[in-house]
Amino acid sequence: MKITFLGTAAADQIPSPYCDCPRCEYARENRGKDLRKRCNYLINDDLLVEMGPDLLVACNMHDVHLMDVKHALITHSHRDHFDAANLVVRKQGFPNREEKPQMDFIAPPSVMTLLNGTGVTDKAMGIRRIPILPYDSITLAGYQIKAVKATHYPQVGDAVNYIIDDGTSRVLIASDTAVYKDEVWPHLEGIALDQLIIECTVGTNIANLPGQTRHLSINGVEEMISKMKEIGAITEKTAICATHFTHQHCPNHEELSAILKNFGVQCAYDGLVLHF
Ligand SMILES: [Zn+2]
Ligand SMILES: [Zn+2]
Ligand SMILES: [Zn+2]
Repeated sequence: MKITFLGTAAADQIPSPYCDCPRCEYARENRGKDLRKRCNYLINDDLLVEMGPDLLVACNMHDVHLMDVKHALITHSHRDHFDAANLVVRKQGFPNREEKPQMDFIAPPSVMTLLNGTGVTDKAMGIRRIPILPYDSITLAGYQIKAVKATHYPQVGDAVNYIIDDGTSRVLIASDTAVYKDEVWPHLEGIALDQLIIECTVGTNIANLPGQTRHLSINGVEEMISKMKEIGAITEKTAICATHFTHQHCPNHEELSAILKNFGVQCAYDGLVLHF
């Protein structure tokens, strides 16, 4: 499996255009890996995870296109993860194809509700909706997908994370979520991931202790990893990579990389491509 990180920031990107904190100022000056767009991930060349507001610009910056995308998985209805405009532009897409290719659009119900507001038909966008709930499993062409319940703002209600298996390898994208609730762990028992992508939104804000229901700090990441090791979701062969960072609590790329390395975790950056 190949995964391309088309963005690695939380909702306000890094640097935030409305912020002059030292982390944002550092990013403005040093650019490179310290410039982070909001999250989207391209798996192989045909499966997208998230369709956030930076998706189109990220395609140009990281030299990818979406012509071959056959499936899109959305985790939840927060605006940094889903912007319906990304689907509306498909209406004018594929001008040289006789028939518009269909894309499976997999998302929890609250995301589907956002999509209802575009005024554009699913047929015009070339999508087939597949609503998903926690613990549903679905088979797509080339993939086995399972949703697990994310611990993410109870008022969002239906946020999920996805386990994605392309027949060669298996990844869990654990974002957005705080530490999983007990009901989740039996679903991860013995799954022996090849790769874990895990959010570390609130970075070094260790006041953001496990037990809260929004995001993970470094402590939360450590707790998730330790639990996953205990139940065989992570083995000695599993690679781990962190993503979805906020300028409010995450140091620059180099510093954050050094901190995460202590836990055996790689720090993602925009444009990173992993093969596993
Ligand atoms: Zn987010
Ligand atoms: Zn800032
Ligand atoms: Zn969120």
